[in-house]
Amino acid sequence: MAGEALPIHDADIPPQWAERARRKGYDAVCRVKDRYHIALCCHRCGEMVSVKAFTLMNNRPRCPTCLGRKWDGEAQQAGLVFLRRDPRHTQYGLFRAGCGHEVRRQWELIRRIGAGKVGLRCETCHLAIEQAEARAQGWTRLGTDPKNNQNYRLYRHLCGHRQRIARANVQSGRFGCGHCDPGWIAAPSFIYAMRFQLTDGETVVKLGFSRNPVSRLRFQLARSLDQDCALLQQIRIATGRKALSLEKQLHARLRKTFPEAVVAKERFESVINVGSEIYEGWLEPVILRHLDELAAREERARRSGRGRETD
Ligand SMILES: [Zn+2]
Ligand SMILES: [Zn+2]
Ligand SMILES: [Zn+2]
Repeated sequence: MAGEALPIHDADIPPQWAERARRKGYDAVCRVKDRYHIALCCHRCGEMVSVKAFTLMNNRPRCPTCLGRKWDGEAQQAGLVFLRRDPRHTQYGLFRAGCGHEVRRQWELIRRIGAGKVGLRCETCHLAIEQAEARAQGWTRLGTDPKNNQNYRLYRHLCGHRQRIARANVQSGRFGCGHCDPGWIAAPSFIYAMRFQLTDGETVVKLGFSRNPVSRLRFQLARSLDQDCALLQQIRIATGRKALSLEKQLHARLRKTFPEAVVAKERFESVINVGSEIYEGWLEPVILRHLDELAAREERARRSGRGRETD
């Protein structure tokens, strides 16, 4: 019997209890514990279950063994191992994810994962990814955003300064420390093109902006010091704000004109520490031509003395 064995309660089983038990998928076996309880045998699995006679008469008694098998099956379908129910919230269960971590999820979600409608993201593994992203930029991820913006987290810089930063900016490195680098928006910056060789031998081009492209290439983007990579071109832009806006325009234009040149992250993430903005090598001449035009425009703006006002 599921749970502890209960003492027999020496009394006859009323015929209407036995009849009701049969209709609900059980055989009435004997009275147990006290005059309110009865032991049933599940037709489906053959296991014993004790229930209150009231439950038998008014509800459908549930067989814990069958229920457990159903849960095991549903968890397995979702690629998980069912561990136990959450005693405080019956609609939640605890599961062992494929990575080995324990996750708590609603049953409804488990069924949707099993049906292939959604995926499962392990919080522990995901946190490790975000922590590594922050470390790569010289920051420590402290926690969620104190202002509760889903896109932001709280970080601490090497200098000790704490700051809310959008996670996307931590991934791209497009932010500065409010304490030791407050001026990136106003300070001069560069739009650059870089070439990387991937492990499959193909070359790709990264287009971006940075106050210091050489340092960005060597210490942030290239995952290994002997990575085959080169800075192809860098165009000086009057301010970081303007560089950001120009760079966004360039990406939008390239993605629209050459969508097939955008390289999937899986192909470059082991070589380049960035999430996007990588193009196939054959686009290199086009990108360099855009940068030449940009350089000419910047030069004209500088000569006419409007370089700082055209942000
Ligand atoms: Zn059963
Ligand atoms: Zn995990
Ligand atoms: Zn700092």
